[in-house]
Amino acid sequence: MRSSFSSFKPFLPDYPLRNAAGIFLLTTLFYFVGAELRLVESLSLFWPLNGVMAGVFARYAFLNRLRYYAVSYVAMLLYDAMTTTWGFASVVINLSNMVFIVTVALLVTRDKRLKRKTPHPINALRIFNYCLIAALLCALVGALGSVGIDSHTFWPLYADWFSEQFSTGVLIVPCMLTATLPRMDQAVRGDHFLPVVALVVSVMASVVIGGAGSLAFPLPALIWCAVRYSLPATCLLTFITGGVEIILVANSIINIAVEAPLSTPMMFSARLGIATMAICPVMVSVSVAAINSLIRQVSLRADYDFLTRVYSRSGLYEALRHEDSLRQARTLTVMLLDIDYFKSINDSYGHECGDRMLAAFAGKIQAEVGNAGLVARMGGEEFAVVTPTLNARQARELADRLRRAIELYPFTWRQQTLFLTVSIGISHTRSEFSHLTEVFNKLMAEADDYLYRSKKAGRNRISAPETNEESVRQSSQSSPTV
Ligand code: GH3
Ligand code: MG
Ligand code: MG
Repeated sequence: MRSSFSSFKPFLPDYPLRNAAGIFLLTTLFYFVGAELRLVESLSLFWPLNGVMAGVFARYAFLNRLRYYAVSYVAMLLYDAMTTTWGFASVVINLSNMVFIVTVALLVTRDKRLKRKTPHPINALRIFNYCLIAALLCALVGALGSVGIDSHTFWPLYADWFSEQFSTGVLIVPCMLTATLPRMDQAVRGDHFLPVVALVVSVMASVVIGGAGSLAFPLPALIWCAVRYSLPATCLLTFITGGVEIILVANSIINIAVEAPLSTPMMFSARLGIATMAICPVMVSVSVAAINSLIRQVSLRADYDFLTRVYSRSGLYEALRHEDSLRQARTLTVMLLDIDYFKSINDSYGHECGDRMLAAFAGKIQAEVGNAGLVARMGGEEFAVVTPTLNARQARELADRLRRAIELYPFTWRQQTLFLTVSIGISHTRSEFSHLTEVFNKLMAEADDYLYRSKKAGRNRISAPETNEESVRQSSQSSPTV
């Protein structure tokens, strides 16, 4: 039931008659709504038709045909013919409606062709501009067409026509472009409606307090809605609020010029209005701060290698910047570990197995190193260990422990037991290291040289620079076991 309802499409490319009927009905319906709101003599106070139809034509690009525009135009003329005595003036006045509709529809469909997606702040600004252009053009035709009706002159008519078209367009077109049927499959909590309650209260405050500032009162509540609700819901609520405010002002229920219901002094309303506007940038800024904190969290995730869960290369540099224990160590040791013949694991057992082995390998190294040092995946099957040590011998002992732990560790893959070996290059320094990352880079280059020596000497061994304490000793001669 719900799915057939939510999959309902009012317009379809292959149903021209149904589309024409839909356009005719919608035009007539919203013409009726506008006409009913025609409180100020001949001009409507709130004219939703143009925004609605512009939204329909903009949303369904396949409706942008002369014949569909003609259907809408004829519906307007028929309505006028039956309800007014405007005669030829009706042809021009309704032509102005069409100018608005066609201008907005063409500009928005052009954007769609250029692949500018709707939910983007810049696109909201574009729609604002399109409504401005369309309202300027439409007001020109409309004002010319209605000069003389009820003895109005051109400029007041132009101003009236333009401001009305522009405001209703800006309120309605975003709604029409984003409207979706509400989804009711989520549990709704009571506090979910608080922004709407705040909106209603703020509109009521506009009525009670009145004055020029009162129009700004609903702004914070609207921004709260924007933060809490979806884009279509926010557009709809903004439209309703704007429409209600226009109607309330027109009927002097919100009194912006003369005495307000509570005889509010003008400054009181203005101050409140300014205060409510001032809080809006703050709310936007709070949202930006929340987004920034999210970005920080995401970049924090980039500090760790997804597969092996040890530091990534960039994460290691970040950690080195904050690691005081390394800065205070007497000797800083950097080891570069490279799994031996790892390509053959991928070749023989597949990439998935390779991935599992890499993760298990990193886990084993991390467990052996413990909290004493940092472990990072520098790329592929190459890992770095950075650790403070007392002297060169202690560094070599740790490296040998790592080498042996890997050599003896039975990796399992689909009921098979596999063994890996690792070659290690070591380097260390005793000097002062205030610029830890620079020192690390130098040590890495040196460790890389020693890693190469380990590989060249037959793998599954460690190589380190000679020190005064003892000469370099190749620790194990056992051959790789993969
Ligand atoms: P050597 O003993 O000389 O180090 O030989 P090797 O095969 O380990 O070295 P080589 O650098 O030739 O190959 C490294 C292989 O590691 C190549 C690549 O297929 C594999 N590798 C790198 N990154 C990944 C990864 O994320 N997952 C898997 N499954 N394999 C990887
Ligand atoms: Mg390797
Ligand atoms: Mg390698």
